[in-house]
Amino acid sequence: METAESRNAQLGRLRGANVPRGLATAHPVFAARAKGARLWDVDGREYIDFTGGIGVMNIGHANERVLNAVQAQLERFSHTAAQVALYEPYVRLAERLNALAPGDAPKKTLLLTTGAEAVENAVKLARAYTGRPGIIAFSGGFHGRTLLGMTLTGKVRPYQQNFGPFAPEVYHAPFPYPLRGWSTEDALKALDDVLASQVAPERVAAILVEPVQGEGGFVPAPSEFLRALRELTERHGMLLIADEIQSGFGRTGTMFAVEHSGVVPDLITVAKSLAGGLPLSGVIGRQDVMDAPEPGGLGGTYGGNPLACAAALAVLDVFESSDLLARGRALGTTLWERFGALRDEHEIVAEVRGLGAMVAAELALPVGGAGSAGAGSAGAGSAGVGVGVGPDGGGRPSPARRGGAAVRAADAARPRARPDLSPAGLARAAGITDRVIAEARERGLLLLKAGQSGNVVRVLVPLTVETDELDRAFDALGQALAVAGREGA
Ligand code: PMP
Repeated sequence: METAESRNAQLGRLRGANVPRGLATAHPVFAARAKGARLWDVDGREYIDFTGGIGVMNIGHANERVLNAVQAQLERFSHTAAQVALYEPYVRLAERLNALAPGDAPKKTLLLTTGAEAVENAVKLARAYTGRPGIIAFSGGFHGRTLLGMTLTGKVRPYQQNFGPFAPEVYHAPFPYPLRGWSTEDALKALDDVLASQVAPERVAAILVEPVQGEGGFVPAPSEFLRALRELTERHGMLLIADEIQSGFGRTGTMFAVEHSGVVPDLITVAKSLAGGLPLSGVIGRQDVMDAPEPGGLGGTYGGNPLACAAALAVLDVFESSDLLARGRALGTTLWERFGALRDEHEIVAEVRGLGAMVAAELALPVGGAGSAGAGSAGAGSAGVGVGVGPDGGGRPSPARRGGAAVRAADAARPRARPDLSPAGLARAAGITDRVIAEARERGLLLLKAGQSGNVVRVLVPLTVETDELDRAFDALGQALAVAGREGA
């Protein structure tokens, strides 16, 4: 019997024939429309969107204020080029971003289009200011897909594979990642080694760090690590660049994630949720650094597009009028509770970690396979198993934050199996993660994976998500974890 091909399947065929496979898409669904934290596909199916377009939609899809601001600007003009005739939304936005960025020093902002372009420009600025070539970035970091962006990215497959030769004068050091055996102390020792064995400190222009690694699997940089980087960069005349492209704009409960540590970077790269879905990025930084390049050295035809600037101004208005930072903090607490409960219920959840509402679960089978809790077990919360940083960045979340006394009792009663983080174990975990994501989609939840080994599910849901939407999403995720834990990949 013939069945009518779905719209998603039709468009999927069209895509297969016309779009390169190198552009991978997480879900085989085509978007028809989206509102708030929901997305509908072309076959009319509704999903709760835990991806937020990869962290772009912190204020939610199709926000009225953004819509109106863009429409009004579109009617005035859509483009002049910032290098030809500048416009008020650009300078107003720069003024507001300068005021929002941490630190008392006077600041300036350069607006661009993509995240990778912001990172490239931060490197140019750091080199122009210091007169030095070297940049230090971290394993597991992600900074974009341009030549320099992928060179700075600390993951080979798929981002760098077969794309070399790479940009020169980029050095990588390990990032603190306790679950994988890297403490802050280890990472700092390894950084000293890079400076002794690979590049002298006086040749390094900047250290580039994500305050919470995004693509790397929501691995937070501990505050003491960021403070040590600040001290080291100051000692050697290097700049500190915080890449806040994924961790910024309220995701962690503060405007920028680096604020949790009290560290003031010299430059901050921003993009994604800055403009509520319009392509806009920027570098915010110390005035003297931002003014180092000669006139004409910075820019780009579309950089700081007026429609995108109008959208970003509306986004900042929404943050103020709806107190979205407070809403993000409340969401963070809820997400940690929900994930804590999932972790207690599903042994494939090896660790829940992140900062504020930037929460993820790293999945792995227990050593010895499913159902072997007790064999090679470690107590809940012992090093490397359990939870990392927390809702407010102030250390590990308290038991109460992870679901109260019931959780504490469960922790005590049931020893957790050690996760299998061997290469073979991680390959199995990646398969399980794909299965979880597929099962969740079947149940109406769109998720994204992350992590060095592709075994992390992350949450970038709009901060405006409603409680009943969260209920539905966590039901779906719980069921998906149960199926994948039982049946495997
Ligand atoms: N830096 C970080 C921290 C990111 O998360 C991303 C995007 N995932 C980028 C840079 C690159 O941004 P874009 O894809 O807009 O170039």
